[in-house]
This record gives sequence, structure tokens and C-alpha cells, in this order.
Amino acid sequence: MTIQEKDKAYIAGTYNRFPLTIVSGKGSLVQDENGKEYIDLCTGIAVNSFGVSDEVWQKAVTEQIAKVQHMSNLYYTEPCVKLAEQLCARTGMKKVFFCNSGAEANECAIKGARKWAAENKGPEYSTIITLKNSFHGRTITTLAATGQEHYHELFQPLTAGFVYADGGDIGSVKALAAKNKVAAIMIECIQGEGGVVPMDEAFVKDVAQFAASENILLIVDEVQTGNGRTGALYSYMNYGIAPDIVSTAKGLAGGLPLGATLFGEKTENVFGFGDHGSTFGGNPVSCAAALSVLGRIDDGLLAEVRAKGEFIKKYFEGAAGVESVSGTGLIWGLKTAKPAGEVVKACMAQGVLCLTAKDRVRLLPALNIPMDLLAKALEVIKSCCA
Ligand code: PLP
Repeated sequence: MTIQEKDKAYIAGTYNRFPLTIVSGKGSLVQDENGKEYIDLCTGIAVNSFGVSDEVWQKAVTEQIAKVQHMSNLYYTEPCVKLAEQLCARTGMKKVFFCNSGAEANECAIKGARKWAAENKGPEYSTIITLKNSFHGRTITTLAATGQEHYHELFQPLTAGFVYADGGDIGSVKALAAKNKVAAIMIECIQGEGGVVPMDEAFVKDVAQFAASENILLIVDEVQTGNGRTGALYSYMNYGIAPDIVSTAKGLAGGLPLGATLFGEKTENVFGFGDHGSTFGGNPVSCAAALSVLGRIDDGLLAEVRAKGEFIKKYFEGAAGVESVSGTGLIWGLKTAKPAGEVVKACMAQGVLCLTAKDRVRLLPALNIPMDLLAKALEVIKSCCA
């Protein structure tokens, strides 16, 4: 049997994979089993921050593997402590909990928010307001947080206590807050899985101000938008707000599983012994990888990400077959006249990997994609949209 036949035989059928087996790569180029090369604008869905088998990243990972690969959270290890220190220094947040994925980072944020509210406002203050069209993960609780009904249908009963506001409508947030005992409001500044839908600045600022005035926690989900993706270290920084809890994962460790939940001044001491935990969370290899990734996301790189973003925007605005362009930095959604899935398939046939988000074509290139490769890939995409 081929790899693809064995996959169908032995792997649970949750993924509608493209008929493509990737065997290796370097930076923003990857090769399939027949040696065909592709420019990768997917990066494992915003995970491979510096592309495939980047040398700086590899060195950080292999040096840590040669020391110790895992020790459990019963003991202290250096990489996770250094990483937490870096994350706090660069965000102003106060404490970090490490886990392995975006859904887990959000689970931790939700647990933290509910415990904080129970202790500070009363146990009945358990409701979390999230936004319609959001995506927060696939565990039973993060599915409940996800404001898209079609994800809920076959998995009832979900965790109770989530209500969904209209993104962009502060009145809808306030109406839900008036009707429920609310612990937290949880938002993505750009809804990635929802089709690369940015929240406008006034709405995000209003939500932050309203949450602060009502003693409601503000959780920002930076799983997809974090770690340099939008041209800021975290996307909330583009809006000048200060969340109480931030969750992140995906690009943090540049291709190894790592999630983090960051707690601000209000919430830093919410967890005590035994309140939460994770066997793999804070794994030294993942944290060493993340230290190397974070160390390279400096002002210079962020300026490049923003400049490449402007280039992408200008390139597609008004292009034939492109109805609208949304995003910032290196997260973009193209509403295309042709079905997005068809455009993505046509791009693949011509050696460019991109993906869909709802009815959009989504682009998530590596933060360091060389300009010539980016331009070449965009040319292919443009021709496939027309
Ligand atoms: N939150 C957001 C905004 C996401 O985009 C995703 C995944 O796409 C998740 C949470 C879930 O992350 P994971 O798949 O690592 O559990």
C-alpha cells in the first residue's frame, strides 16, 4: 500500500487531506515524494514560523535533546523558566502556564477565568462571552467556546456557560453581559479559521474598556495570530489593549507542540497547587525551540512582516477574480470569485501550497519567507484566481 492508502486504512478519518505526501523541505520550499517542489504559504497552519528545518531552530532543538528531552513538572528545568521570563518581559503579563496546543491553552484560560470569577465575584459568575464565527479549539469545552454551530452539532452536550456575541457589535456584547453572570469575554482580534476576519479597532477597544469597567476578564486567543504573525508579537498589541489572559500556541515553538496561557496582574495568582497541570506542558525541547523562535521575533523582523503584508494586500486588491482581501502582516484571506477550494487545488498543481478558511483562500507564509519566493507564489495564486 502507498502512504496515502495506509493513512486511509489506519488513521481516523478526521482529515480531508490533499493527495500530497511531503517528505522534506528547507525554509519556504518543501518537496513531495516524487521530488516536486512547492512554495509553502501554509506553514503547517501558522506553525513553522521560520519554515521547514531552519538551521537556527534545529540547533536549538538538537542541543536541548542532547541534554534532556523531558523531566516532568515535578522538577525544575531551565528552558521553560527562561521562556516564561521572556514572554512576561515582552508582554507585561505576569505568569505563564505551559501546555501542548491551542485548545489546551484556551481550556486553561477558561478554567483560570472561571476560578478567578468564582473567587472574586461569586460562583454564579461563570458565563464566558465569545464571538460568533470564532474558533477556539476542538475539545468539548473549547468547541462550546467556538461560536459556530456546525462544530457543535454531533457532540452534545457541550460544556455549559458560553454565549455568543456579534463580532464588531459592542451593543451585542453589552446585552449578553446584562443577561448573564459573566466571568470573561474571549475574542480573537482576527478570526483566522472564521475566514481571516479582523475585528475593527473601535470594537476591540470598546470590548477592553467595557470588560475593565464591569470587572469582567478579557481573554485574547492568540493561537493563530500570535508570535509575530500579524506584524506585532501578539495581535492585541496592534490595538493598544491589555488583556487579562492571553492564550497562544501554533507558531510559538516553530513546529513542536507547545501552548501557553499568560496571566496578567489581575489573574496572576489564580492557580494554586493542583488546580491545573500537564504531563508534557513546558517540555524542555519545545521550550528551547520557542526561545529560539521568540529571540528572532525582534523589531526588524516584525517590520519586515508588516511590509510583506502591505505587499500582499496591494498585490491582490483589485486583482481579477479577487473580490476582497483581509488580514495584516502574514495572515491573509482572499475572497475569490471561484470557490476557494478550487483555487487552492489549482495553486498546488502549480507548486504553491496555501489553504482555505471558510470561503476564503488563506495565506500564512513563514515569517522569514524570502521576497522572491513570496512574489513567485503570489503570481501563481493571482493567475489561479483569475
Ligand atoms: N484558537 C484558534 C484561534 C485557532 O486558530 C486554533 C486552531 O486553528 C485553536 C484555537 C486550536 O488550536 P489547536 O489545534 O492547537 O488545539
